[in-house]
Amino acid sequence: MVVDFERAPFLVIWEVTRACALACVHCRADAIARRDPRELTTAEGFQLIDQVRSFGNPPPLLVLTGGDPMWRKDLAEFVGHASRAGLTVALTPSGTAMATRRRLEELKAAGLSRVAVSLDGPDPERHDAFRRVKGSYANTLKIIDATLELGLPLQINSTVSRRTLASLEAMAARVAEFPLTLWAVFFLVEMGRGASLEQITAEECEQVLEFLDGLSRRVPFGIKTTEAPHYRRVQAEAERNGSSASPVLGRRQLRAPRAVNDGNGFVFVDHLGNVCPSGFLPMPRGNVREGRLVELYREDEVFRGLRNPDALGGRCGRCEWRALCGGSRSRAFATTGDAFAEDPLCGYEPAPAVAPLGALLATA
Ligand code: SF4
Repeated sequence: MVVDFERAPFLVIWEVTRACALACVHCRADAIARRDPRELTTAEGFQLIDQVRSFGNPPPLLVLTGGDPMWRKDLAEFVGHASRAGLTVALTPSGTAMATRRRLEELKAAGLSRVAVSLDGPDPERHDAFRRVKGSYANTLKIIDATLELGLPLQINSTVSRRTLASLEAMAARVAEFPLTLWAVFFLVEMGRGASLEQITAEECEQVLEFLDGLSRRVPFGIKTTEAPHYRRVQAEAERNGSSASPVLGRRQLRAPRAVNDGNGFVFVDHLGNVCPSGFLPMPRGNVREGRLVELYREDEVFRGLRNPDALGGRCGRCEWRALCGGSRSRAFATTGDAFAEDPLCGYEPAPAVAPLGALLATA
C-alpha cells in the first residue's frame, strides 16, 4: 500500500482531558486531578472527529488519550460517533479503578477497537513506584483482564529511561505472558514531569533497540518504538547484514506501513484543541475549534518541514537514513530548542558532509 503522509497522518492522538488520578514520574502532560473547563465540549469533540474523518481514505487511526480519558462521561459518545464515521478508535486509560469492566464493555459496544495500557515495571513495586500510586499495577492488571475477556486487542506501553532500563528484560518477559497485539516502547523525552528523569545514553539506546529487534523476531506480537525512530535504522541494518532470522508471521502487518514521526504521519490534538506535531513537541500550529485540522496538517510550514528530511540539521541532516528515520523531533526540541536539530539519543555517526566541488574550488 502506498502511504502518503503529505495527505493524511497514520495516527491522530486526541487528549480528551488532562485530568488524571495518577502522578507518573514521566508524565508529558503534567496531568492534574481536575478537568480543565476549557476542554473541548462534546459538540466540539464531534466536530473534531468529523475533521479527522475528512482526511479521506484510508482514514487515520484515532487514539483517545489523556490524562485519563475515563474522566470524560461523554467518552462512549465520542467512540460511537467516530466508529459510525468509519474510524478505528483506540483508548489509553490510566491504571486506575475508573477503567471498570462495565465501562470498557460500554466502549466496546460503542465501537472501540483497541485498549492500550501502560506497564512500566515487571512487578507491583517497580510499576507503582514509577506511577507514584500504590495499587496502580493491580488496577492495570484488572484492565488487561477485562480487555482480554471482552475480546479487545491489547497494547502495552512501557517507558525506557535510566530508572527502568535495568528491568527491561524482565519487562519483556512479563509482557510476553499476555496475549497482546503490540508492545509500544516509549523512549523518554525530557519534558513535563519527565524532565526530572534521567535519560539513558545513546549507546545504551542502541543496545535496547538491538534487543527489541532481536525480540521482535521471536515473539508473536508487534513491537514499535515511540520517540526512537532509529529503531527503523537498526532493523534495516540487521536485515541488510543478514543477522536477523525471519520475522514471526503476522508481525509486520501490525505496524504502520512506514515510519511515523512527529508531524509526519502523526498529529496530536491537546485537551484545549491545539494542534501539535506530537504530544512531546509543544509547538501549537492552530486550533481545531477553527476547523482547520486537515489544512494545518497538510499545509502548515512546521508540519511540512517535519516531513522534509532535507530540512534536518546536525547528524540527522547528513544521515543516509534520514528519510527512513529522521530522529525524534520532540527530543531535539526538548534538548536544544530546535525541532530540526539532531536527535541526541542516537549513536549513529554518518559520514561527514562533502562540500560541493564548486564550493571547494571557490575557496581554493
Ligand atoms: S543520525 Fe538521525 S536520522 Fe540518522 S539514524 Fe540517527 S536519529 Fe536517525
